[in-house]
Amino acid sequence: MQRLKPQTSKKMALIRFKALESVLSRPAIQVNPPSSKLSDFYGIHVFDLIKMKQYLSKEAYESIVAAIDTGTLIERSVADQVASAMKAWAMEKGCTHYTHWFQPLTGTTAEKHDSFFEPGADGRAIEKFTGDALVQQEPDASSFPNGGIRNTFEARGYTAWDPSSPAFVIESGSAKTLCIPTVFVSYTGEALDYKAPLLKALNALDKAAVDVCQFFDKSITKVTASLGIEQEYFLVDLSLYHARPDLMMTGRALFGHMSAKGQQLEDHYFGSIPERVHAFMVDFETESIKLGIPLKTRHNEVAPNQFECAPIYEEINLAIDHNQLLMDLMDKVARRHHFKVLLHEKPYAGVNGSGKHNNWSLITNTGKNLLSPGKTPKNNLMFLTFFVNTIKAVHEHADLLRASIASVSNDHRLGANEAPPAIISIFLGSQLDEVLNEIETSKVNKKADTNNALWLGIPKIPQILLDNTDRNRTSPFAFTGNKFEFRAVGSSANSSEAMTVLNTIMADQLVQFSKEVEQLVKKGEKKDVALLTVIKRYIKESKHIRFEGNGYSEEWEKEAAKRGLSNLKTTPKALDAYISKKSTDLFINNQVYNERESHARHEIRLENYTKKLQIESRVIGEMVTSVIIPTAVEYQNMLVQNVKGLKEIGLSKTYTEPQMDLIKEISEHVNFVKKAVEDMIEERKKGNIIEDERKKAIHYDEKVKAYFEPIRYHVDKLELVISDEKWPLPKFRELLFVK
Ligand code: ADP
Ligand code: MG
Repeated sequence: MQRLKPQTSKKMALIRFKALESVLSRPAIQVNPPSSKLSDFYGIHVFDLIKMKQYLSKEAYESIVAAIDTGTLIERSVADQVASAMKAWAMEKGCTHYTHWFQPLTGTTAEKHDSFFEPGADGRAIEKFTGDALVQQEPDASSFPNGGIRNTFEARGYTAWDPSSPAFVIESGSAKTLCIPTVFVSYTGEALDYKAPLLKALNALDKAAVDVCQFFDKSITKVTASLGIEQEYFLVDLSLYHARPDLMMTGRALFGHMSAKGQQLEDHYFGSIPERVHAFMVDFETESIKLGIPLKTRHNEVAPNQFECAPIYEEINLAIDHNQLLMDLMDKVARRHHFKVLLHEKPYAGVNGSGKHNNWSLITNTGKNLLSPGKTPKNNLMFLTFFVNTIKAVHEHADLLRASIASVSNDHRLGANEAPPAIISIFLGSQLDEVLNEIETSKVNKKADTNNALWLGIPKIPQILLDNTDRNRTSPFAFTGNKFEFRAVGSSANSSEAMTVLNTIMADQLVQFSKEVEQLVKKGEKKDVALLTVIKRYIKESKHIRFEGNGYSEEWEKEAAKRGLSNLKTTPKALDAYISKKSTDLFINNQVYNERESHARHEIRLENYTKKLQIESRVIGEMVTSVIIPTAVEYQNMLVQNVKGLKEIGLSKTYTEPQMDLIKEISEHVNFVKKAVEDMIEERKKGNIIEDERKKAIHYDEKVKAYFEPIRYHVDKLELVISDEKWPLPKFRELLFVK
């Protein structure tokens, strides 16, 4: 039968126990922030407006501010000045190199470092950084994902400076590098990154929202979206992590029986933070604060060894740059503390997964939050306008919004019992839900007095909403007092994907709204009456997307199906919404993606889905064959020896039967997993020759992934019967509870 490989499994078991030993003797690392006042070092590594003012001439400074505020172009001479100021500042801080810092569709951030150093013609060298180098770089980018946009013969990609996100200095050991946030586009001008489309969507939103604001307040000339990103993550000791090939290769435990204690006692949430973890948090927060990331909160999350941090909200483009930077920083700093940060949405089956809640609202140049109810009825008409348009936008494009958060790792979370379901719905809270119901059914009072609380038939809206605290944690998209919280975004995601879609659908919706109101006004309707008339109709039309109940319940799945809402549980099919006629038109009309870009993105995401499953499947195969089976056989052999011995000394069947049962049970599990791995490999082979990316992804989902759970079931059974001292992989109780 199976051949013995005692060496492998013995070694593995050794690693597990060595790892455990080393964890238990690990002290918390001392962290000394530069000052106990965070404001003393907030932003010291950022070339922000304050520093620009110091280093630039008045004209140059003003043209940068204009570029940030209104998107005006920056002249070459100004770019030269900015470059030389940046260089001076960065060199004072000890930088030798600079890089354009961008977000290709790999999901990580990319850098290519160049030194300031340049040899002169006379043999002497100087430190140089010109406006040209600031504004544009040409990384040899042929191996970034591009979805067929860029063939290798036109392999050039451009990175172009984004002045709205300030440059910063990254330290790595003693090396310091000036990082310049940029977009990344192809030679033909198509976006190859996350930032370019986001900036376009924000631009469309700004225009559309300002137009709508004109109905209320002529002084509003700019609307920006704000975003506060809550980041959930798990921590695991680095040694334990290295003893789990699955965590290392895929970011999640592909096997592992749930420990007797999980999160059922609910004793981790908001509990006291373990000392080593606390030191890690202080350390990465310090680094973040230096980089101008306004981290504000930290706490334990629901699952053991799960945590969360959140910054104060910022303008959306900056908030996303900061979140990307934060994820990098956490990873780097964690190593100093012998931790690994797991950003995967579901590292451990059986306990909560991790999300990245995106708190989103709209803010005007006059400082008004458009999603905040006001004091006067007139203000509330403005609030209702943006509030109801958001609901309508989500209603119209729920499938696209679902697609925007689809990924192989988030599939484990959406629809699982503690995460928002794959059905997109909106939670408003009982008070606002009632307000909308009332508006929907009441008559517009055309002669109403502006000072009346029930002006035009708009009921009174309380300024402080009960549901701000009484949160519905089961909703993927919840209103929380003065902002919407898109909770379904995955913890490892770049928020740009979701935010590009959200801001585009909102822009599109607001354009539509303006048109409809204008039409009524042209027909002679009073402006306020016209506004309310359209709002009323929108409330009616988008009613199906509103749900106040328990989003995790089975009844909701049934109810949602009745209402005709989609429930797309897996990525390959959810992604279809990206390339539907409705979506491609939406993107084209709002100048966010052309058709080629929509299709390219669709393809890249399908490819990514397939590749990740392929890796998981391979790791399962390798671990079963070279770790699990040898361990099982070795232990089984011990039992065989034992039975032989018992028989030799003359004991009857009664005494050998329990061991015989175990021997059989082990064989059954081993036989099952061995066969299943072989079959899974066959399915992989079939999948790999499928050319169509969508079909291939579906094959991987339905045929290859189908083996994961059954294999895991039998491996986890083996974990339960095999002697603990022989089991090579750190167990869930160790991954989740060892601190
Ligand atoms: P909770 O942690 O209970 O979800 P918080 O009020 O702490 O709620 O908000 C979470 C995140 O929402 C924070 O990042 C916060 O800065 C952000 N936030 C608050 N107000 C806004 C707003 N108007 N627009 C966008 N984000 C906001
Ligand atoms: Mg929240």
